[in-house]
Amino acid sequence: MRYQLFVFLALLTATATAVRGADDKPAAKDAGPTLCVGNYHSEADAVRQLERISATYSNLEQWQKRAKRIRQQILTGMNLNPLPDRTPLNAIIHKKREHKGYSVESAAFEARPGFMVYGSLYRPLGRKGPFPGVLCPHGHARGREGGRLRPDQQHRCATLARMGAVVFSYDMVGFGDSEHYGWNHDHKQVLTLQTWSSVRALDFLESLADVNDQQLGVTGCSGGGTQTFLLTAIDQRVKVAVPVVMVSAHFFGGCHCESGMPIHKTAALETNNCEIASLAAPRPMLLVSVGGDWTKNTPQVEFPYIQSVYKLHKAAATVENTHFPEEQHGYQEKKRQAMYPFMVKHFGLDSGGIVEDTTLKFDESANVIESVETMRVFDEDHPMPKHVLQPGAHVAFTD
Ligand SMILES: [Zn+2]
Repeated sequence: MRYQLFVFLALLTATATAVRGADDKPAAKDAGPTLCVGNYHSEADAVRQLERISATYSNLEQWQKRAKRIRQQILTGMNLNPLPDRTPLNAIIHKKREHKGYSVESAAFEARPGFMVYGSLYRPLGRKGPFPGVLCPHGHARGREGGRLRPDQQHRCATLARMGAVVFSYDMVGFGDSEHYGWNHDHKQVLTLQTWSSVRALDFLESLADVNDQQLGVTGCSGGGTQTFLLTAIDQRVKVAVPVVMVSAHFFGGCHCESGMPIHKTAALETNNCEIASLAAPRPMLLVSVGGDWTKNTPQVEFPYIQSVYKLHKAAATVENTHFPEEQHGYQEKKRQAMYPFMVKHFGLDSGGIVEDTTLKFDESANVIESVETMRVFDEDHPMPKHVLQPGAHVAFTD
């Protein structure tokens, strides 16, 4: 692995693309934590950092000690150490719509008292459970049909449900219903709130009688990819992870819900999103990457590094990379077609009648793309609970 990274580093340097960017040295001992935002590293600095990091351990035991420190740094950095109490979810599930092979319900729960997480709950129809449960966080695409309401997100959730998964698709802070009810993504606690919402979304899935709590997974792209690998890193209940177009050694995410708190670099420890993703080991993980964004080096840089961690666990084959050199950022159909068979393989989903025999393509034509109004959780007939927090309120994490 080191030789491979060295060769790639030489290539980067030779092509003179490595504009010296942020420093690649550990934070000084007397300095506070450092925020690593956006393109904090040049591509070459990222490769050097991975080399430096990989030299700090040489066997599974040493790696596991490091992984524990990384996990602690993430939780401390986002003000979730110690983990807050699991307060009552007070889940609401209603407005059931039945489509061919699956149903959709509007759902919400309280991640903290009065702080609502809004979403859509997709369930198989005509199948016998219990079913695997899959979380689908979304990225930063805006607009009336952004976030959870996006057609590509609806296709992803519906297709998985038609194959026998219970899927929960949920709003980021200030998107979808959260935006509709007045919340703003600039909320100071956004990284904390979204990560804790993902943890509680696993609790929510576990609370459903038709979900097998030993088969929980998560997949999201872009900002939803960040949520995917952060949740997988801190919560062992995730058994299968598919982060899409986000795992990068040089790019840390540009939004404060990804890199606005000191989870990557302190005086004690430096890491990056590639290494954080490797905390999934030895659980099955598929990295979907493209030539058109910050995942362009994945086959040469991020995937070999992550697989080296899986090798320590003697699980090299359980991490995979599907790379699309000609594709751009997003979770378009080609990327979904890469994710479906991975979920089928690891969760035993039933693709009969959905995957075409000759092309091996998963048919999405039976999915119904619902309107924004249909997907709203609360309306005149289904009023919002009265005790919810005011939009933008500070959310208390201690009782
Ligand atoms: Zn964000």
